[in-house]
Amino acid sequence: MDIKEILHVLKDLGFDEIIIDNSITQNKIKLLEEINKEIQVCTKCDLHKERKQAVLGEGNPNSPIMFIGEAPGEEEDKQGRPFVGRAGQLLTKAIELAGYKRSDVYIANINKCRPPGNRTPTVEEQEACFPYLKRQIDIINPKVLCLLGATAYRGIFKREAKITKERGNILDYEGKKVYVTYHPAYVLRNPKEEEIFFEDIKNALDLAFGR
Ligand code: URA
Repeated sequence: MDIKEILHVLKDLGFDEIIIDNSITQNKIKLLEEINKEIQVCTKCDLHKERKQAVLGEGNPNSPIMFIGEAPGEEEDKQGRPFVGRAGQLLTKAIELAGYKRSDVYIANINKCRPPGNRTPTVEEQEACFPYLKRQIDIINPKVLCLLGATAYRGIFKREAKITKERGNILDYEGKKVYVTYHPAYVLRNPKEEEIFFEDIKNALDLAFGR
């Protein structure tokens, strides 16, 4: 049996997470908490003016996959958690349909504060916030980044893209695999894309978890 098969057997026996070195996990949590403290008082762009709270992200700090969205919406701004509104429920459904749990993954955004009226964050706002996301990526160190929509793509690659053309592609960002797909809010507006979105999320997860 190779290590992957052993891990699958353990998972079938009910082990959800095998913590190989607890001190590494604790250190990641501490570093993420430090970023959270900084973003709650951040004034690097005007988005701080109307936020209820900044939203860092959440999930397993040892996850092999990090989903990256755009910015918090109304519900996220209220709850302080990413992707908990309607778009978030669709993302959670896609993860679960693929056979995984939301707690298996890490979820973050390009911008940590809600843009008024849920408008797209400007390039300046994205760039002001990017160092926080970069630190999150470096701490979590996932194998795969799954970019949800055009803002996530622009935020990472610093160039515009048509997601209808780019989706399903596997790209590279600093040695990590990048899987590009639609933003779930786009899928809510275009339900005929739902099946493709579910397939993309499963492909990204399987790529990360080596299935
Ligand atoms: N849309 C996003 O891009 N991120 C969230 O956290 C919620 C909705």
